[in-house]
Amino acid sequence: MDFRLSPEEEAFQSTLRRFGDEVLRKNEQEIDDTGTIPAKVLDEMARLGLFAMPVPEEYGGMGATAIQTEIAAEEIGRGDFSMATAVYFLLEAGWGWILAKHGTEETKKEVLPPVCAGKHFLGIATTEPGGGSDLANMRTRSWRVGKEIVVDGEKTFLSGVMEARERGGGHVTLTRQKDGNGFNFLYVPANAKGTTAHKLVNMGRMGISTCMLHYDEVRAPERYLLGKEGKGFGVAMQGFQVARTFVAAACVGAAERAIETGMAYIKERQVFGQPLGKFEGIQFELADLWAQSEAVKWQVRRAAWLLDTYTFKGDSTHRSEIDRVVASVKLTAPQLAFDAVKKVMMWFGASGYTKEVGLERGLRGVMSYMVGAEGGLNVMRMILGRELLGKEFLPYAPPAGG
Ligand SMILES: Cc1cc2nc3c(=O)[nH]c(=O)nc-3n(C[C@H](O)[C@H](O)[C@H](O)COP(=O)(O)OP(=O)(O)OC[C@H]3O[C@@H](n4cnc5c(N)ncnc54)[C@H](O)[C@@H]3O)c2cc1C
Repeated sequence: MDFRLSPEEEAFQSTLRRFGDEVLRKNEQEIDDTGTIPAKVLDEMARLGLFAMPVPEEYGGMGATAIQTEIAAEEIGRGDFSMATAVYFLLEAGWGWILAKHGTEETKKEVLPPVCAGKHFLGIATTEPGGGSDLANMRTRSWRVGKEIVVDGEKTFLSGVMEARERGGGHVTLTRQKDGNGFNFLYVPANAKGTTAHKLVNMGRMGISTCMLHYDEVRAPERYLLGKEGKGFGVAMQGFQVARTFVAAACVGAAERAIETGMAYIKERQVFGQPLGKFEGIQFELADLWAQSEAVKWQVRRAAWLLDTYTFKGDSTHRSEIDRVVASVKLTAPQLAFDAVKKVMMWFGASGYTKEVGLERGLRGVMSYMVGAEGGLNVMRMILGRELLGKEFLPYAPPAGG
């Protein structure tokens, strides 16, 4: 077993560390203040091939491995502490991969190239006003009329709706079949006829919009279906496996940045006549944070390795193992990042509470990964409970016909 990155992966990581230091950090305040990721940042990401990077080259992507994508998510999470750029990146990476895997040839050729070029946005739409955790109970309905699928209902807390409505693009959308027990998972352009959007004001991650999206009998061509009609639930769940790994990677990047920022500070800051870092109360907190960060980082790498070894090769034999590892990292990584930023803010004292230092931006950003963004913490615990104890310990009935 070799834990080292290959020379190519190391070179890629160094390039992205430079991008994080020289482009993301310099723009993160603007991203947070203006509520948008500047064109110069998106252009540079496009130049580096970062949009939807696991999508095969024939559809405009890089054909990147899960490990390469995980490295990129980590570096982007470290570079833009607000997490807006990381969310933009990881949604397209995870759901772009799923569209490339399960979409029809026509849809892949139509939708993916402008996404990979950084022109259009691609996101995910599952959450509804009635709740995001209990997906099997969703109310948005879909049904077939000739060669079209009609979608009617409402989704909420969707990332990137305004970006997709303004620049082009849309969301892979999970809906319940009106006639039948199954689910249709299909691409819906964000400005399709019959959609209306309402922007929500968040506490953080300001550079990417979060919206409600109402569908009034929106019609999509049947070619926009991912997977077979009525069998979309499993496809969406596979997408969550992939996207959650990249969420966890972004959190590791944020945690590492917080820890490094804190280390530099406690070596310099003098209290009671010596550096703050000489006091055990602080040093032991640092030791705990570093040890936790290393543990989570390597489990995230293992999740990416599992995706490369099985999921990305179309091998579904290790689903349960992957579910366990991915739920673990989506459970631990956001908490690690939040804990690291919060503790380092405390080391900074009052200056940590100011906007100048920028730690509060990280706190607001990583909080979004605790609340939701590809599933809340308790949903990860429920997946682990199901995998460890058995399906009969699920507190709800799994969806039929998924
Ligand atoms: C910034 C942001 C961006 C988002 N972007 C998207 C997006 O792009 N697309 C999308 O579809 N969704 C998105 N979401 C929504 C996110 O996926 C949901 O917030 C998440 O799935 C939880 O759903 P909910 O908020 O409706 O909470 P609920 O489902 O109402 O749950 C409320 C709380 O109870 C917990 N809980 C739920 N069930 C149980 C249980 N059985 N036992 C114990 N605790 C439980 C949950 O973990 C949560 O903490 C985003 C959320 C945020 C905050």
